[in-house]
Amino acid sequence: MLHVSQSKAPALFVGHGNPMNAIGDNLFIASLNNLSKTLQKPKAVLVISAHWSAPYNAVSVHESELLYDMYGFPKELYMVTYKAKNADFLIPQLQKIVPDLRVEKRALDHGVWSVLVHLFPDADVPVLQLSINTKFSMKEHFEMGKALEVLREEGVMIVGSGNVTHNLREAVLGEKDAPVDAWAKEFDGFVKDALLTRDFDALIDFEISQRYAHLAHPTKEHFIPLLYIAGASKNDEKSRFVYEGIEHGNLSMRSWITGE
Ligand code: ZN
Repeated sequence: MLHVSQSKAPALFVGHGNPMNAIGDNLFIASLNNLSKTLQKPKAVLVISAHWSAPYNAVSVHESELLYDMYGFPKELYMVTYKAKNADFLIPQLQKIVPDLRVEKRALDHGVWSVLVHLFPDADVPVLQLSINTKFSMKEHFEMGKALEVLREEGVMIVGSGNVTHNLREAVLGEKDAPVDAWAKEFDGFVKDALLTRDFDALIDFEISQRYAHLAHPTKEHFIPLLYIAGASKNDEKSRFVYEGIEHGNLSMRSWITGE
């Protein structure tokens, strides 16, 4: 059961992985279900998902339908519904934080709903999604996360949905428990250490410092949500890994919460 609270909300990065996690049953899903039981109910949730990039800053106002932006999966996955309200009361404040913020009509994508169905299964927390601005540098994404932290003070949970490693061309899609590639293990270990030591500069500069950056992220949209959550984390608060594990040979499911 969720408990209503006015206290500061946490920030959470989730490695969403295979879209089938929306309806599956495994240890990763169990970790989200467990978190759901202990979380204080936030006033709203602001999500930054790997599956919405735009060359500008935008928030989405959604209808009750969802975006089924994944292809070739069993039909049950396309029957998932999630009817959370819009957290549109946050828009005026977001417009002060995020420059030139547009408001767009757009349904929630699977990076959002495949996570929220487990985190807030009753869909009783209003949601707003923020685009990933493709014109931003890694540093600017981090700084935006930092600027958004103020929302947490007012009970708004910030969720980043991506993956610590994400290279579907290299992934063994048919085998969840495939042997783990050395490059994925190394890159995942780098992120783990950076989060444990709060070396967020290392995360921002991952393309320079990490020899396997190009393998871990041939495109960067699944990494960027992590920068928002690192940015929204305060130095004096506790954090922990909600889940650790590498699936399909090289898809890290590492998930991290701060200020729980
Ligand atoms: Zn994804």
